[in-house]
Amino acid sequence: MSIFTAVKEAVSPLDAAKFYGLNVNRNGMCICPFHNDRHPSLKVDKEVGGGFYCFGCQEHGNVISLVGKIFGIDDKEAAEKIIADFQIKYTGFDSILNEPLPPEEIERRKKINERKVFAVKRRELCQLILKTLSEMREEKWQAEAKAMKVLEDNELYCWIIHKLDWLESSYDYLIFESEDDVKEAIEQIDEEVRNNVGEFEEIVRRSKSNA
Ligand SMILES: [Zn+2]
Repeated sequence: MSIFTAVKEAVSPLDAAKFYGLNVNRNGMCICPFHNDRHPSLKVDKEVGGGFYCFGCQEHGNVISLVGKIFGIDDKEAAEKIIADFQIKYTGFDSILNEPLPPEEIERRKKINERKVFAVKRRELCQLILKTLSEMREEKWQAEAKAMKVLEDNELYCWIIHKLDWLESSYDYLIFESEDDVKEAIEQIDEEVRNNVGEFEEIVRRSKSNA
C-alpha cells in the first residue's frame, strides 16, 4: 500500500480540515482559505477517501492535496505530515518511521503544527478584515456621493451657498465702512438686500411646499 493510499484510507478531508484549524460547519462547509472567501464555499467530505471542493474558486482535490495547499507543501510532504500528525501506523514506510515517535518529537511536531494553524488563521483573519474594510470604504464613499447629489439637487441649499457670503459682506459693509461710504451706497444695498430677502422667502416657501 502506498503512503498516499494509507493516508486517504485513514483520514477524511473533514478530519484534516478540522485538525488544521478550518472552521467546518454542520453541513461540511467552511471559509475557503484559497481565495478571498466571505461565506463558507469550501465543501469537505466527511468520508475517508472523499475530497474537497470550493464553489468559489473551484479548488479541489483529496485530503492530501488539501493539507498540501494549506501549508504550501507537495503531496509527499503533506502525506508524511498527516501520517505524523495523526500518528497513522504505516508499515510500508521507511523503517525509521515505523518506530513510535519519542514523546518529545511528538511534542515538537505538535508545536510546529500549532504555529502553522495559527499562521493560517491569522492570514485568513487579515484577509477578511482587509476585504471588509475595502467594502466598507466603498459603501461609505457611495453614501457620501449620494448625499452630495441630494444637496446639489436642493434648490434652497444651492441658493444659500451662493448668497451667504454676499449677505455677510453686505452686513460688514454697513457696520464697518465710514458713514460717507455707506451713505453713498445704502440705497443700492437696500434694494439688493430686499430683493434677495424676497427671493429667499420665495424659495423657502417653494421648497417647503415641495417637501
Ligand atoms: Zn475557494
